[in-house]
Amino acid sequence: MAPRVSLICPMYNEQENVQVFLSSITAILESCQVTYEIICVNDGSDNTLERLLEQKPAYPALRILNLSRNFGKESALSAGLSVARGDAIIPIDADLQDPPEVIGRLIAEWEKGFDVVLARRVDRSSDHPAKRVSASLFYKLHNLISKQKIPENVGDFRLISRRVANEIVRLPENQRFLKGLFSWVGFKSTTIDYERAKRHAGTSTFNAWSLWNFALDGLTSFSTAPLRLWLYLGIFFSMMSFLMGCYIVFIALFKGIAVEGYASLIIVVLFFGGIQLTSIGVLGEYIGRIYLESKGRPSFIVEDEY
Ligand code: UDP
Ligand code: MG
Repeated sequence: MAPRVSLICPMYNEQENVQVFLSSITAILESCQVTYEIICVNDGSDNTLERLLEQKPAYPALRILNLSRNFGKESALSAGLSVARGDAIIPIDADLQDPPEVIGRLIAEWEKGFDVVLARRVDRSSDHPAKRVSASLFYKLHNLISKQKIPENVGDFRLISRRVANEIVRLPENQRFLKGLFSWVGFKSTTIDYERAKRHAGTSTFNAWSLWNFALDGLTSFSTAPLRLWLYLGIFFSMMSFLMGCYIVFIALFKGIAVEGYASLIIVVLFFGGIQLTSIGVLGEYIGRIYLESKGRPSFIVEDEY
């Protein structure tokens, strides 16, 4: 019989967290009095798989997916989603930053009839200030230029119903920005608040560079506004140059040609050089994504399932 709740936990170098994660999560799920399965996805990491296999006999509800290499958190979550059997599915981090106590509240809201229960962090003080500022900027920019808004301060930790999960698994794209996809599919949703904890052990793998790339993935998967920007800039500068041309002709006809000099010329040349390179760069971002997507490679490979 299918369990009522599936937990999906992506794990990359979480060997120190496996045991405490499993014991705290199981205690909470037992107290919720639901049938459940815990799907741990080992995303090509250190001794995490060995630790998981050691624990397996003690936890009959534990299923282990071992990916053939490190594919990244989005792919690990997608792998878990593709095998989850529960009526409700909860992605959760292995480092106990998503507090297990919140699971009971997620399930309670779902039982009221919501398909999506978002968990919003009210306190991000466990994050570095730079991460908080950049995250907030990202959400604002993303929501400004995309039709599908993603709620601020909501991570992957949430509850989704079976039918939401089915829709997400059905999406053919392999460059997956799950936070966006979760809100793209829609359905009736509600939000609860929680306080984000500190990492239990180990270190976060997301540094400034990977977060920047993650943000680019998010912006380019859900909006074509960055492409369109150049159309409007192009029209604006063409009009400006037309006006400037008229002005120069006027000056030449009525006041004689005055050579205005090197500075103004070089500024204009460099300015348009910069504009053109930036616009080619933005085009490149999208073309790169079309290229990767067109290969049709799967977003993960499962080596073994235990
Ligand atoms: N993770 C993963 N694959 C990766 C990187 C991270 O499966 O390539 C998992 C990691 O084990 C953890 C979750 O994703 O369960 C969140 O990662 P982390 O704590 O490093 O991110 P942060 O909390 O700093 O955003
Ligand atoms: Mg973390």
